[in-house]
Amino acid sequence: MTLASCQGPSGTAAPEVSKAATAAAIPAAWADKSAKSLFGAVSRPSSQRDESFGSYAKGCLAGAVQLPESGPTWQAMRLSRNRNWGTPELVDFLEDLSRKGAQLPGWNGIYIGDMSQPRGGPMSSGHASHQIGLDADIWMLPGSDMHLSPAARESLSSISLRRNAGAFVNDNWTPQHMALMKAAASDPRVARIFVFPGAKVQMCKTATGDRAWLNKIRPWYGHHYHFHVRLHCPAGMSGCVEQAPPPPGDGCAEAQSWVDNILNPPPPNPNAKPAPPKPELTLAGLPAQCVSVLQSPSLP
Ligand SMILES: [Zn+2]
Repeated sequence: MTLASCQGPSGTAAPEVSKAATAAAIPAAWADKSAKSLFGAVSRPSSQRDESFGSYAKGCLAGAVQLPESGPTWQAMRLSRNRNWGTPELVDFLEDLSRKGAQLPGWNGIYIGDMSQPRGGPMSSGHASHQIGLDADIWMLPGSDMHLSPAARESLSSISLRRNAGAFVNDNWTPQHMALMKAAASDPRVARIFVFPGAKVQMCKTATGDRAWLNKIRPWYGHHYHFHVRLHCPAGMSGCVEQAPPPPGDGCAEAQSWVDNILNPPPPNPNAKPAPPKPELTLAGLPAQCVSVLQSPSLP
């Protein structure tokens, strides 16, 4: 079975400050290769200072650190994908969030899905973003067993929380899911959380007290087997490109309009032209530093 893949929003709204790699700096053997094939072929991080280059959906990651496969309150899932890499800030955040998850009734911790590849970059499957070590997917399945075997981490499935194609939550939804997303959204390191529209509306209806955290909860396609956490660019990473912040407010009216569109889809525009296929990303489309990230020797 496949987990709902994370067709993450690209997050390219902010202007890009990094210069794209110039043709001269790209080894000839790499010029025509897709960036996802180059980054997907590297199994270890670069021996460089940790730094994110570029934007969430067009970038790479130097000096990545690995989320340990097991912790007292987390399990990294699908180890065969080798995507449990990120900035030190992401790993710290996930460990902190897992401790909060372990406090929830019925939860012993959290199951963590894809983060980034060892050197970030585009992936062969599943994501537009997750490229700079600042995105992570958290399973909706409550973490129960904190001693899963590698085989179990491949075969275990998460659970979907949606019904009506994401317009509503289903019977798997619990207040603990909301508490975990609220804890994540309340963390100053977090920029955005992506989840299906019905979950956001559910939280809008049941949130009490301070509603500021709802601002970071963003309705998006998919994201019913997991929610997706995106961190801000860490301090001191000048090559990391932030996404523009969400519009002010709790975003609940916007989420409701997503739900309305699911329930009553607007008629297709007869004049709409089909979107042209996106050209495959090559190194020339990534920040120049990504060439050296790929060329750097591996950490032992
Ligand atoms: Zn994701």
